[in-house]
Amino acid sequence: MICLTLSSSTLDGCCGQIRRNRDYIDIAELRLDLLDGSEAEKASVFPAMAGIPVILTLRRVSDGGRCALSERARRQLLLAALDGDFAYVDIEEDVKKSEVEAKAREKGVKIIRSFHDFEGVPEDIYSRIHHLTERGDIAKAAVTPHSIHDVLMLFHVADELKDVPKIIVGMGEWGIPLRILYARTGSFLTFACDGEPVAPGQVSARDLKLLYRADRVDDRTAIYGVIGNPVLHTSSPAIHNPGFDVINYNAIYLPFLVDNIRHFFTLAEYLRMRGFSVTIPFKKDVLMYLGNITREVKQIGSCNTVVRVPGMWKGMNTDYYGFLRPILKDIEKGRIRNSLVIGAGGASQAIVWALRNMGVKVTILNRTLSRAESLAAVNLCEYDTLDNARNYEGQVDLIVQTTSVGLYPDFDANPIEGFRFTGREVVYDIIYKPKMTKLLKVAEEAGCTLHFGEEMLFEQGKLQFELFTGYHYPNGIHPLI
Ligand code: NAP
Repeated sequence: MICLTLSSSTLDGCCGQIRRNRDYIDIAELRLDLLDGSEAEKASVFPAMAGIPVILTLRRVSDGGRCALSERARRQLLLAALDGDFAYVDIEEDVKKSEVEAKAREKGVKIIRSFHDFEGVPEDIYSRIHHLTERGDIAKAAVTPHSIHDVLMLFHVADELKDVPKIIVGMGEWGIPLRILYARTGSFLTFACDGEPVAPGQVSARDLKLLYRADRVDDRTAIYGVIGNPVLHTSSPAIHNPGFDVINYNAIYLPFLVDNIRHFFTLAEYLRMRGFSVTIPFKKDVLMYLGNITREVKQIGSCNTVVRVPGMWKGMNTDYYGFLRPILKDIEKGRIRNSLVIGAGGASQAIVWALRNMGVKVTILNRTLSRAESLAAVNLCEYDTLDNARNYEGQVDLIVQTTSVGLYPDFDANPIEGFRFTGREVVYDIIYKPKMTKLLKVAEEAGCTLHFGEEMLFEQGKLQFELFTGYHYPNGIHPLI
């Protein structure tokens, strides 16, 4: 089940949150500690207002909530709320036999026995979960993984406790795969938010339902993902998941924050992942784990796509073709023969190779000359410093911007400030946030033909989709990148 954690300070506000998310959720959690005091006192009327099953929770400050009442007053408030028809009540692990528990059992309200660890993952997590379920209750362990190894360990624990009624919550950014793959962990539900997260790392109910289709994951669901650090801003799930849906493929694609690539490969084996995308800073680090790589990966020395083939992982680079696709016709028709590539980082490497392999002359301009020089040496190009950009005015057909200058939130930056376009150039900025960078605005004013980073992102994603599934990316999907 997808459970919406209600965060409004009034009961009416909470009902509004349920209405907004009704299509995405199965159950809601009323957090009395987030309500105004007078509203919390009226909480017993809420189940009748909600129209869906509701969990009753009054979270203490020590467990990450806002309830600063004495324990006695807290239990009184819970007890009064239990006059309403709540489906579940959350009682913390350390609360021994209480009137709240007695009333819940008497009324047939199911009990969730919870513990929270904001520091890490307790070593005795397995036995604690087990112990909490001894009286037929549902155990809830909200813990804080700090590495991909912790995430792997939690998937192990979840599998060991497969048939035990439980909720395993991975808090923080590291825990996001556990929240999305809650069905794979055998968790009874996952907590979701209405827009802004109530707890760290929460995913919105809308994304869980519509983007990830998390409630449809089962033992046969093929798992794909994107690894990086940082990675949570990625738009790739918005490309792959709708595509899987259209071709009726029981598969899911989600972000994995990674700190150690070897541990990630262990997790990928454990989850029997079928493939994944690779982003900064792992495009080179993955190479030593691959049994097979394509010619482009060998040339460029970086890999952004890994798929499982019999007996090994195979690495490919779709940045290369993703970049080329939007301008391929112009190159083939001879409209692009001569280019200026701004930047000499990882993305530039794939782009320079792609242009050189198509016979386009390339001059690399970079802030750090030595990087431009080494990239130029292996690709037989010219190179220069960024400061000399204006020397190339009117001399090239294509200008490709590959630096991070102009990237969100630095909207006003332009790596070649003052450069004058003739209006005949094709100008391609691979930054995709924002779509219209400062450089592209200047080029547009001069009448140039523009290409956007989101075109490259989408094209490379479509190629990945083909490698992942064997199907062409379906027409008519316009992911919000
Ligand atoms: P990278 O390897 O870190 O390279 C960064 C490049 O930017 C280097 O050339 C660096 O120059 C230059 N740079 C950084 N700050 C600068 C500054 N203040 N002034 C001048 N130059 C500066 O990064 P990357 O992987 O190549 O990615 C670069 C950009 O491409 C990012 O914005 C990324 O989002 C985007 N990208 C887009 C796609 C897509 O599909 N559209 C794919 C990949 C990457 P130095 O060598 O002097 O440090």
